[in-house]
Amino acid sequence: MGGRGEGGECAAALPGQDGMLAEMAQAIRRNELIMYYQPKIRLDTREVVGFEALVRWQHGRKGLIGPYHFVPAVEGSPLLAAFTDKTIELALGQCALWQARGHFLKIAINISARMLEDDEFVPRLLRQLAFYEVPAARISLELTETALLVNLAKGQAMVHQLRDHGVSLSIDDFGAGYTSFTYLREFMVPEIKLDCAFVTDLEVNRFNASLVRSLAMFCEALGADFVAEGVERRDDWPTLLGLGCRIAQGYSIARPMAGEDVLPWLREWAKPALALPA
Ligand code: C2E
Ligand code: CA
Ligand code: CA
Repeated sequence: MGGRGEGGECAAALPGQDGMLAEMAQAIRRNELIMYYQPKIRLDTREVVGFEALVRWQHGRKGLIGPYHFVPAVEGSPLLAAFTDKTIELALGQCALWQARGHFLKIAINISARMLEDDEFVPRLLRQLAFYEVPAARISLELTETALLVNLAKGQAMVHQLRDHGVSLSIDDFGAGYTSFTYLREFMVPEIKLDCAFVTDLEVNRFNASLVRSLAMFCEALGADFVAEGVERRDDWPTLLGLGCRIAQGYSIARPMAGEDVLPWLREWAKPALALPA
């Protein structure tokens, strides 16, 4: 998975893991990380409900490198906290810029679930929100699960702390990796994003269609938003709506884009011709 021409895919080879992490430590300091933004919309009204911030590495020699090439290594390293702080800083800085131009756009930031084991994470996040004057309610944190949370009780306490401060949470890539119904029950998040692997061939794949339909009902009963990710075809929009899924993200809406392209994209999106169903 990953976007072409936007750093989602990159053929350039990176050095071995240790060398790459040393380069990444420098990249964080030298501001080589940048964020792309992808909209999430309501399929029935075409309303833009927010943007997901997706990191890329603007490498001096190798060009734009997508997160699959470095996030897994960073997540298992001591760099994770500095990397996470940097991504939050970039996303909040962009959000503050949009705010200053009168656009109060919601922003979703990807956070490795491992950050929930760091006692300093919430205070640091709150300081960054205060610095950029972004209200907590304007952001949500998408928890990506690449490793089993060692301490579920601690994770739960952190989730409550975030919620008490008005920060929304979302379970990302639901159905893939380690995410489970235990997570949903213990964390009671207001949004669940179904992994894109289950959002394909909905007309012919009975398993995927049944899963989307039942998760849509499940989320509705819970009062949580249900988001289909990786929606690549416009033809899937009515299919998803028919299955009860009203919120989607994917190339059929827009590819991830640079921060400066977001407001022009919003202006185009608001034009009636584009807002009509395919
Ligand atoms: P994700 O959170 O599931 O993000 C969605 C990924 O799907 C993005 O890949 C996006 O470009 C891609 N995508 C969007 N629409 C479509 C589509 O219609 N079809 C297909 N095939 N793909 C689509 P990207 O940007 O390469 O990010 C990959 C993963 O890297 C993310 O998956 C997330 O787990 C991680 N990641 C990205 N940014 C960050 C970050 O700032 N922090 C952390 N911890 N992880 C990040
Ligand atoms: Ca995500
Ligand atoms: Ca995802």
